[in-house]
Amino acid sequence: MVDSDGRTRGGYPSRVLQNLANERIATLARGDIAAAIHGLLDGRVETVLGDSIATIEDDGVRAHIGFEHGPHREVDLVIGADGLHSKIRQIAFGTEKQFEHPMGCHVASFEVAGYRPRDEDLYVAHTAPGRYVARFPVRDDKTLFFMLLRDEYLPDSLPASESGRKAALKDAFSSMGWECPAILSALDHVDGVYFDSISQIRMEGWTKGRVALIGDAAACPSLIAGEGAGLALAEAYVLAGEIHTHGADLDSALKQYEKRIKPYAARKQRYAESLVPSFVPKTALGVRARDFATLLMRLPMFPRLLMGRYFRDAMELPEYGIAHQETQTPPNNSFKPKPLRGSA
Ligand SMILES: Cc1cc2nc3c(=O)[nH]c(=O)nc-3n(C[C@H](O)[C@H](O)[C@H](O)COP(=O)(O)OP(=O)(O)OC[C@H]3O[C@@H](n4cnc5c(N)ncnc54)[C@H](O)[C@@H]3O)c2cc1C
Repeated sequence: MVDSDGRTRGGYPSRVLQNLANERIATLARGDIAAAIHGLLDGRVETVLGDSIATIEDDGVRAHIGFEHGPHREVDLVIGADGLHSKIRQIAFGTEKQFEHPMGCHVASFEVAGYRPRDEDLYVAHTAPGRYVARFPVRDDKTLFFMLLRDEYLPDSLPASESGRKAALKDAFSSMGWECPAILSALDHVDGVYFDSISQIRMEGWTKGRVALIGDAAACPSLIAGEGAGLALAEAYVLAGEIHTHGADLDSALKQYEKRIKPYAARKQRYAESLVPSFVPKTALGVRARDFATLLMRLPMFPRLLMGRYFRDAMELPEYGIAHQETQTPPNNSFKPKPLRGSA
């Protein structure tokens, strides 16, 4: 944590978090996880790219799905794993508005090649009231940036265009010190800035008839949780395990899936919500208090006291007897999706 002149005001070694998590924190690029999953599917599961489910008619036994481009199909179960703005959720459960809990902030994220300074293995962040900017070195001499800001620092109606959004970010961050001027001028040259509301998805039920949701589609904990990817994988694992266990009795499998993992996901969401004020404090005093608290993390006992509950996993993943067999197959990264009847 650095101030507007780049002086260190807080922070702690990443080892502190590894200790809290019993060494279970892994840093992986999202694309690498996707490639590993695709590699395992290669030759075993049909993949359709460049298309999207457009309609679902559920007769309680089978789901009849229509695609935007490809031909209509009939399946046993539709699993919506399509993220925070899930279309499957929208089709089967209703509008996003009913389930989205905005946390009062937006996030922008982007990568820049060759940015300097670069501090290996160091996550450097600077916070002003309502605004937070951080950089982190990643592969190939790239630096990943995060900009978080409270909604009051954005215009009432958000610009739809990327250039409009960059302008809004500039307005919000241009008065900040540290490396903000350099980061904002780097932003000018970036195509495809990720920009979205920081939101959670909270639903009474994740399954309905022959449709089930997993991951962010079902229970997005938001990036503040810092473990949405792990949660999504755990949900997928439990859903697969319950289907394996219950065979043709899909109703019982889906019921058991929700029962096992929903309370765990809800707990992660509550913790993430409670972290928002310390990520983006509203006042200068709040920023100083947060920075001071991060210094306390260097002392014994304090990490557990301040952060312990975020790392406690009060849930044992069931052993379904399939995981071992599946993970024996080495990832095959030569995955080549086959275009299917009319789909790109
Ligand atoms: C800036 C940022 C930083 C984050 N940092 C972390 C972190 O450090 N650690 C962590 O664990 N989590 C982090 N998260 C959260 C994490 O990315 C998500 O929780 C996780 O990716 C959820 O996985 P998912 O598979 O459910 O959804 P997603 O990863 O969003 O995947 C959904 C997929 O569905 C596809 N899709 C969408 N619509 C359709 C459609 N209509 N038809 C077909 N396909 C569709 C999308 O292209 C996408 O590939 C971060 C999130 C953000 C925004």
